Amino acid sequence: MPIRGMLTFMGAENPFDEAKFVIVGVPFDRTTTYRSGTRFAPTAIRETTWNFENNNFEHGVTMDDIPVHDAGDLFEEGTVDEMVESVYEEANKIVSAGKFPIFMGGEHSITPPVVRAFRDISVITIDAHFDYRDSYQGLKNSHGCAHRRIVDHVGVGNAFAFGIRSMSAEEDANSGLYADAFRIHKEGCEKVFEEMLSKLKRKPVYLSLDIDGIDPAYAPGTGTPEPFGLTPWDVRYIINRLADRLVGFDVVEVSPPYDNGNTSVLAARMIREVIAVKWKAMKGKK
Ligand code: MN
Ligand code: MN
Repeated sequence: MPIRGMLTFMGAENPFDEAKFVIVGVPFDRTTTYRSGTRFAPTAIRETTWNFENNNFEHGVTMDDIPVHDAGDLFEEGTVDEMVESVYEEANKIVSAGKFPIFMGGEHSITPPVVRAFRDISVITIDAHFDYRDSYQGLKNSHGCAHRRIVDHVGVGNAFAFGIRSMSAEEDANSGLYADAFRIHKEGCEKVFEEMLSKLKRKPVYLSLDIDGIDPAYAPGTGTPEPFGLTPWDVRYIINRLADRLVGFDVVEVSPPYDNGNTSVLAARMIREVIAVKWKAMKGKK
């Protein structure tokens, strides 16, 4: 069971039963390899949301119109395997209730158990790193294996990683789908994204945003920064392009101790973007 803190995500004070969107924080960073601190992200992201207007004028929706529930944080003092199981249970509760889950890491190891709560979906991860090792430092549930664990669940033809610019030879030799940042820069985000999207066999898409997929100039507050990244506009394009196909979202790897404040704001703004475009798509179907 998540624990409700003092501060909620702005506009997310609706009861669980009435909500279409459910936000959960997972302040877990135990497998982080370089510099830790993502456990502080859910609180930092929530704090920044109070800086925004509750109106998304460009989408014609306000947060007041949208039923969002902030469930609080999953309090996890155990091992990574215990964290994974409690995230799975929580995600399962949200998905079986027909609601749209939004998870805030913590590190990327929180994503595979959220994905496991779904059947017959595709998954797109935005990341500087492929996260495609079978295990890392003896851990199958390391944040360096996130995309690999996702592919274990959905199958190799139903997932791709986008924005990659760091991978080991071992990961490159495996058969996973990815689009690297060098090609995206050369050919353009929209063109490469369309090409990758056409490879996916299943229409519903879960999107996982590892914040280090965005260039460290825009998102310095992260554990493993990697130059030559995507821009916030690229990620905004992807969210809007997917819109009605989206079934769930997470943002991971924000590390407040290394932030100047802008990374938490960017993460919060991407969550707001997902809620706005998905809500518009839900309303259009009614
Ligand atoms: Mn990652
Ligand atoms: Mn990464």
